[in-house]
Amino acid sequence: MPVKSVANLPVEGTRVFLRVDYNVPLTPAGGVADDARIRATLPTVRHLLARGARLIIASHLGRPGGKPDAAASLEPVGARLAELLGQDVVLADEPVGDGARKVVSDLRDGQIALLENLRFHPGEEANDDGFARQLASYADVYVSDAFGAAHRAHASTVGMTKHVGVRGAGFLLLAEIDFLSRLLGTVERPFVAVIGGAKVSDKLGVLESLLGRVDKMLIGGAMANTFLRAQGHELGRSKLEAEKLALARSFLKKAGDQNVAVVLPSDLVVATSLDDDAPRVVPVGGVGPADLALDIGPATTRAFEDELARARTIFWNGPMGLFERAAFAEGTFRVARAIGANRRALTVAGGGDSALAIEQAGLVGKLSHLSTGGGASLEFIEGNGKPLPGIAALETEETR
Ligand code: ADP
Ligand code: MG
Repeated sequence: MPVKSVANLPVEGTRVFLRVDYNVPLTPAGGVADDARIRATLPTVRHLLARGARLIIASHLGRPGGKPDAAASLEPVGARLAELLGQDVVLADEPVGDGARKVVSDLRDGQIALLENLRFHPGEEANDDGFARQLASYADVYVSDAFGAAHRAHASTVGMTKHVGVRGAGFLLLAEIDFLSRLLGTVERPFVAVIGGAKVSDKLGVLESLLGRVDKMLIGGAMANTFLRAQGHELGRSKLEAEKLALARSFLKKAGDQNVAVVLPSDLVVATSLDDDAPRVVPVGGVGPADLALDIGPATTRAFEDELARARTIFWNGPMGLFERAAFAEGTFRVARAIGANRRALTVAGGGDSALAIEQAGLVGKLSHLSTGGGASLEFIEGNGKPLPGIAALETEETR
C-alpha cells in the first residue's frame, strides 16, 4: 500500500495532527447546516482517541481570505463535533500562535483540540513554509482525512507533511481513494456516467477521461444545454456556455469515434422565470426565445432511469436541473432514486450539490460511496487516479 493507514501508525500517547475537511455549509444563524463531512471523519477520530492520542484537528471553512472572520469561525463545527462524540473539544482562537500552542500543550491523552480556521492565516493557501513549520511543531504524527482538500497544495495539506516524521491516511481518505480507484480499474459493465450541473468548462476534462472508460454517458442539467446548443437547438435564455460550443461539438465527435453513447435530453422542463408557477414540458426542439430550460423532461428521466437500472457501475456528478426549486427538482431526485435503487451496481457519486440532492432524497446509505469531495473527486478521475497533492504528500518516506 503506497499510503499508510492510520490503523498502522504508532499513535499511543503522541500528538496527532488530523487534517480534515470540515468546510460545511452554515445556516443563516451560524449553525452547522449539514454535518455529513464531520460525521464522515468520526471513525478516524474515534480510532485515534481510543488509542490514547492527543488529537489536534485542523480544517478550513469558507473563504475568509487569510484573515480572521467571525462568520467563518470553526466554533459551531467544534460544538457539533463535541456533540457527536459526547466529549469536550477545545477550540484554539487562532490556527497558530501563542494561544494555539497553549491549547495544544495542555492536551492530555484522549483529548481533542480544534485549531481555528486555517484560512484565517495567509500562509495556509500560500503554502508558506514558516506557517507549515508552526503547524508541524504541534504534532508527532500527521494524519489526513481531508479528501475534499486533497487537490490543493496548501500548508496544512502538503507543506507541513515533510516536517512531521510519521504520516498516514485516515479511514475516510482511504475509502475515497478505494472507491474512486475502483471506478478507474476493471469494472462490471455496463458502466454508466451521469453528468450534470452547471459548468462544462469545469468538467470537460473529466468527461474526456470518462470517455475511455464508460459505455454510456447521460448528460443533463445546464451542462446538457451547452451540448444541445452545440447541436444547433434553440435554448432561449437557458443557462449555457456559449464560448464552449466548439469544444462541446468536438467532444461529441470524439465520443462517436470511441463508440460511447452520449445521451442528451429529448425533452426539457422550461419556464419563463424561476418563479414561473406553470412550467411546461417541451421536446428539445420546442424551447421558445423567452424560455429557460431548468430540468430534464419526463421522457428523458424515464430513459435515464432505464439506463441506470441496467447499469452495473455508475458514477454520478452534477444535478439534472435547478433542483434547489421544487418545480425543477424532479429529474435530479428521480435520477438519485434510480441510482440508490440499483443494489447490484457499484454506485459512486461526487459533487457538493449532487451530494446534497442525495441527502435530501434520503439516499445516503443506499450508494456504495458518496464522495465528500466535489472538485477532488473530479480531479482524481481526470488524472486517472494519479495521487492528488494531499495524497502524494502522505506517501513519501523522506523527512527533513
Ligand atoms: P456539483 O456541486 O454536484 O458538482 P455543480 O456545482 O456543477 O454540481 O452544479 C450544480 C448547480 O447547477 C446547481 O446550483 C443547479 O441549480 C445548477 N443547475 C443545474 N441545471 C441547471 C439548469 N438547467 N439551469 C440552471 N441551473 C442549473
Ligand atoms: Mg456545486
